[in-house]
Amino acid sequence: MKKFLLLLTAILLGNITFAFEIVYPKQNNTIINAPSTFFIGSSKTPLKINGNNVPIHPSGGFAYVVNLKQGKNTFIIESEKEKQVFNIVKPQYKNTCTPSFEFIPYKNKKNLLVNIENTPLRSTPVDGGINRIAHLPENFPLTSDGEKQGFYRIILGEKIGWISKNAVKISSEDYTLPAELKGYDYIDSDEYFTFVFHLNKQVPYEITEGEGLQLKIYNVKDRPENTYIMDFPVKDALSGRKLIGYSGKYDGNNFIWQIRKPIITNKQKPLKGIKIAIDAGHGGNETGAVGCLRDKEKDITLSVAKYLETELKKRGAEVIMSRKGDVNPNLYERVKTANDNNAVVLISIHANALPDGCDPNKNSGTSVYYYYNQAKPLAEIILQTMTSQLHTNNDKVRQASFAVVRNTEALSILIETAYLINPSDNAKLINDEFRKSCAKSIADGLEKYFKN
Ligand SMILES: [Zn+2]
Repeated sequence: MKKFLLLLTAILLGNITFAFEIVYPKQNNTIINAPSTFFIGSSKTPLKINGNNVPIHPSGGFAYVVNLKQGKNTFIIESEKEKQVFNIVKPQYKNTCTPSFEFIPYKNKKNLLVNIENTPLRSTPVDGGINRIAHLPENFPLTSDGEKQGFYRIILGEKIGWISKNAVKISSEDYTLPAELKGYDYIDSDEYFTFVFHLNKQVPYEITEGEGLQLKIYNVKDRPENTYIMDFPVKDALSGRKLIGYSGKYDGNNFIWQIRKPIITNKQKPLKGIKIAIDAGHGGNETGAVGCLRDKEKDITLSVAKYLETELKKRGAEVIMSRKGDVNPNLYERVKTANDNNAVVLISIHANALPDGCDPNKNSGTSVYYYYNQAKPLAEIILQTMTSQLHTNNDKVRQASFAVVRNTEALSILIETAYLINPSDNAKLINDEFRKSCAKSIADGLEKYFKN
């Protein structure tokens, strides 16, 4: 009898559908170190948090900001039939002032070898942000004359750079001698201007965008400040057209610099034959953000990406997908797929979320990110087209150092379609028609860009 009762209770409990659901914070008794946080979730009936009414969107989603005091914060969340008690702990204040690190010069220079592919060589000893000089391949040789704050200082000739100690190993070989540059070849093809520099060893380089493009090869013998400089006059060479993409890489000891030539587009079908890489953000174990109604960013991005694929193919573009299913290629694999296929544009699709301390009700809309100036005009046209067609808030074009937008070979942008944790944006994102319109507006933006 006892067993039967237990079974009956289990069956009854199993059938209860909860009146409300909390999606964020992910669990009770969470530690959050911010002045405020938010409850994200859904409810079918009116809801109160600590006695205050929570506005609920017609879709059922809600986002409710709560302030946090130090120590334990208790929140009572209740509907007519149900009540949950939620505790959030804000840790005691700690002095987070980091000790200031001094530069430590070395008596003897250290020779280093890069041991992580794509390691950023930085202009400041800071991990992150827009301070990248170049990305170096594995086994790239460098010389350091001192260290600061977890970084080796790298001698480049005219200037200095910094590299994370975690990304290099000390080598017994001597790389201090400058390289010899024996000249270069210029190759003119239909698609590219190509320069091949003949060096006797690999040395760091930097390509910067200003009025034109400038290549600097550092640590080169018989050059002022050991720096070889070549300017590429973009305006004249491209006959006034916009710069689309360029690359710099080593093939053995030859440094190859390629600049893509302007693309002559068909005025009636501006996307005809244009190679466009679409990157659906996240995937597999990495769900990305989770919305009020538990929809996952990885599914929303893939849905928009597939609609965009169809839309672009209809307009004659050649489409490359960084993922087609529920898998999670790493960020460099996503960029590599685009570059290996010679993509002219790389579009990464995401849906936005916010950290603790922000207000999900006050942040909404579409934003587009770029890193290199060459991609800024495309970012602007796409944002303008998306917000005017989708009637989403204009959440700005921004420069950011995301791995997928740091690709120079294609015009690379990242689109935050809308905010998954804003109840009103969330209701749009979970609507299939909205995702279709999203894809159409991106394609229209691309068409406008290539028409000019
Ligand atoms: Zn994302």
